Amino acid sequence: MVREVVIIGSGPAGYTAALYTARANLAPKVYAGSLSGGQLMLTTDVENYPGFPEGIMGPDLMESFRKQAERFGAEVVNDDVTEVDLSGEPFVVKTARETVETRALIISTGAKARMLGIESEERLLGHGVSTCATCDGYFFRGEEIAIVGGGDSAMEEATFLTKFANKVTVIHRRDSLRASKIMQQRAVDNPKIEFRWNSVVEEVLEDGDGKVRGIQVRNVENDEKSEIALKGLFIAVGHTPNTQIFEGQVELHDNGYMKTFEGSRTSVEGVFACGDVQDFTYRQAVTAAGSGCMAALDAERWLAH
Ligand code: NAP
Repeated sequence: MVREVVIIGSGPAGYTAALYTARANLAPKVYAGSLSGGQLMLTTDVENYPGFPEGIMGPDLMESFRKQAERFGAEVVNDDVTEVDLSGEPFVVKTARETVETRALIISTGAKARMLGIESEERLLGHGVSTCATCDGYFFRGEEIAIVGGGDSAMEEATFLTKFANKVTVIHRRDSLRASKIMQQRAVDNPKIEFRWNSVVEEVLEDGDGKVRGIQVRNVENDEKSEIALKGLFIAVGHTPNTQIFEGQVELHDNGYMKTFEGSRTSVEGVFACGDVQDFTYRQAVTAAGSGCMAALDAERWLAH
């Protein structure tokens, strides 16, 4: 049996594509991955998803997305896709358990925020450690916080975070920034932003209630260690799109993100991409969901022709 639509990925983009294609009677199969639900599974309160005036927990929101897609007949399995063959139609999608053929493919495999690689940062993610200033800045009104990174994201987010926090310390591993001059200048000119150069975060310190109380920082030039008391640590050291299994088959940008043309079309006809796997600009749940809807409509139209 050749399926009409297969969707790979289960964040807001994938589930929205599933909902729309299911309601269009295309009986989509969704490979949600063993860690289904995407990046929102790693957050606590989501306060900027429209429709939830009191906010909602990230995992609860994703559970609702999934149920809504399943209600209309989307078949969701928690398997990881290990391989695809997009060289001819139908496309072939493989997991450890099965191989399926499909006429249209929607890729919504998302991106991963790069982390520092220390145990305490993983443990306190969502409890004071965050990878999303837009999402979580509001929780740190009147507090002291820090942000790691020296790129445009770190500068933009540091500047944004001063709307809420009393003080933002930028911790950067070198003594010069990678960010564009204009973004650097904006951050340097901001009286609420302080820089710690040549420094790395070695440990996120926890209070008795499982929340962040500070960080231990090491100066990489003289090995001196110091502690900074703060309530929040933002990590802005870049993202990695989950495009590895598509390399060589679908056109990617130099930064590894998937190229889309005219809505959600990729360089392969019949293959569509939505959400963070193709978006390095907005990266919001609501924009991902919107692009998932676009991919579903694009796939539906393409199948109809
Ligand atoms: P990025 O440019 O790759 O910068 C990552 C930063 O994190 C670098 O300063 C890097 O240090 C640091 N870093 C990486 N790994 C680290 C580690 N393990 N520990 C400590 N520091 C680490 O990423 P980005 O800032 O997310 O930007 C991604 C792309 O989006 C860029 O092309 C950027 O221009 C663009 N962007 C544009 C805007 C805008 O124009 N409004 C806003 C955001 C992003 P080093 O410098 O030492 O390598």
